[in-house]
Amino acid sequence: MSKGRSLEAVKVVVRCRPMNEKEKAANFQRVVAVDVKLGQVTVRNPRGGSAHEHPKVFTFDSVYDWDSKQLDLYDESFRPLVDSVLLGFNGTIFAYGQTGTGKTYTMEGVRHDAERRGVIPNSFEHVFTHISRSQNQQYLVRASYLEIYQEEIRDLLFRDQSHRLELRERPDTGVYVKDLSSFVTKSVAEIEQVMNVGNQNRSVGATNMNEHSSRSHAIFVVTVECSELGPDRQNHIRVGKLNLVDLAGSERQSKTGVRGERLKEAAKINLSLSALGNVISALVDGKSTHVPYRDSKLTRLLQDSLGGNARTVMVANIGPASYNMEETLTTLRYSSRAKNIRNRPRVNEDPKDALLREFQEEIARLKEQLERRSGGRGGRRRRWKRDWQSLGDGGGAELEELDDDDDDDEDEDEDEEVAEDSVAGGGGGAQYWQEQQEQLESERKAIMEDRSLVVEERRRLLGQKERRIEQLQMEQEAGETLAAKVRAMESKLLVGGKNIVDHTNEQQKILEQKRQEIAEQKRREREMQQQVESWDEETLELKETYSSLQQEVDIKTKKLKKLFGKLQAVKGDICDIQEEHIKQRQDLEQSQNEAADH
Ligand code: ADP
Ligand code: MG
Repeated sequence: MSKGRSLEAVKVVVRCRPMNEKEKAANFQRVVAVDVKLGQVTVRNPRGGSAHEHPKVFTFDSVYDWDSKQLDLYDESFRPLVDSVLLGFNGTIFAYGQTGTGKTYTMEGVRHDAERRGVIPNSFEHVFTHISRSQNQQYLVRASYLEIYQEEIRDLLFRDQSHRLELRERPDTGVYVKDLSSFVTKSVAEIEQVMNVGNQNRSVGATNMNEHSSRSHAIFVVTVECSELGPDRQNHIRVGKLNLVDLAGSERQSKTGVRGERLKEAAKINLSLSALGNVISALVDGKSTHVPYRDSKLTRLLQDSLGGNARTVMVANIGPASYNMEETLTTLRYSSRAKNIRNRPRVNEDPKDALLREFQEEIARLKEQLERRSGGRGGRRRRWKRDWQSLGDGGGAELEELDDDDDDDEDEDEDEEVAEDSVAGGGGGAQYWQEQQEQLESERKAIMEDRSLVVEERRRLLGQKERRIEQLQMEQEAGETLAAKVRAMESKLLVGGKNIVDHTNEQQKILEQKRQEIAEQKRREREMQQQVESWDEETLELKETYSSLQQEVDIKTKKLKKLFGKLQAVKGDICDIQEEHIKQRQDLEQSQNEAADH
């Protein structure tokens, strides 16, 4: 993969869910046809007939029908993006569509069913498998989880869910959420745990979870930092960030009869999604000089992913049944436009805020401290107290938080078992402390037994010795804490190479590779098919040789019919779009009027 700054289109894929039981029972007609080979979705109006109702055809990077498998989607459409995140690119996957069409199914899926797991759990597996197979690299993986609801940002991993966060911008790293918590995760199980905690928090305070999730945007962020020794013998850090976004339902929110709080809420929900639409329009328009990212929290946060330096895949989810046709068409038009957004993906190399660098430096500093303890013991008495005090008594929290802006990381695991190996407690090892203690103990005994001392003096000397023993114990504990801290920090830096020669692992890898090759092959075939389609039309004329005037008339009539059909389809589209605009305007006017009434 190149580090180049070439343009790359946002990839748009469409997925149509199966008919559900209710729809089947009510005998709803299927109006969506999916041509997987060609990457086309066709929507046919069951009432058919008039020019207005011509079938509408949309072409995408790939399309998935009701039988599509989660893993196929992952391999074909998401795996390449997550691969590039592992190389240090930013990547965004977002699911767009009407409520009930499968956004959450696509993003999260069914957790404990390997076949029905969605993109998010599959990406966890992918990231940690990649790390376990890596060589000569050090990784740090952390996760954040936030929600945008009514234009307010909530940290789904923060204890206090009434807290609201603000957006900030830095010239080097762009837009970020100030004070957003993030948790270092060392395994799939740990990152899943983070996700679970976030999901639990998300449902807190929501009277109806379905309604809440259809009105809020959830963004799970995985940051992967990777450190590797460069040819210049320096450690270089690349940081890739993966945004996994489950958007609010795209259905029009403000409907007649919605008033007061609900109306305000509806207006705010519309805001982020219509801002997203406006950003897409401005980006693909070519004439716009201003892209209105600042109009909503969502678009500001996804700025990099839309016309920025990230790779982006948009999944448009649709339903198959006739009663959803209008929303389905709206979704298809919206996502069709998004295909034309161009990004300039770029690797994030040695960014200033890499946490991995901070970890490496902190570990080096702590190790040096340990070294000093075991080495120059002379200076140790003066230092120990400061070291002791600088080690907080954090830990114990369910999730161990890492605050980017905070320099003193007092929340480190300190309850981890202290082993006697690599970095022994306080340097010099247990033996040293034992000797010291034994010596003090025997000195204490000697004082006790020294009959020549007057009572007063003996008490004073004994007190001195006891204080010294206490001090020694504290010093030992401080050393152990320090050593434990080093170990805890080191354990968070992940390295691979452990099971590389493992046979099953090898087979898995080959299997994965095969799946990827197949996905790639499918993609190429689809592209070729699409090409052939367009060539067919262009060369139709050139290929025709007419044996008679009548034949020429026949063929040209046929072609005329085809073109006429197309013209009608485009006219129909224009009609639809105009109608939609009118509806939107009416909604807006109604919202304004009602807002004025309140
Ligand atoms: P959304 O998040 O867009 O509101 P959901 O993901 O909750 O929609 O999907 C609605 C229902 O449809 C759920 O019961 C889900 O399991 C089911 N569903 C959605 N997509 C699929 C699919 N591709 N295959 C099987 N069931 C699906
Ligand atoms: Mg959902």
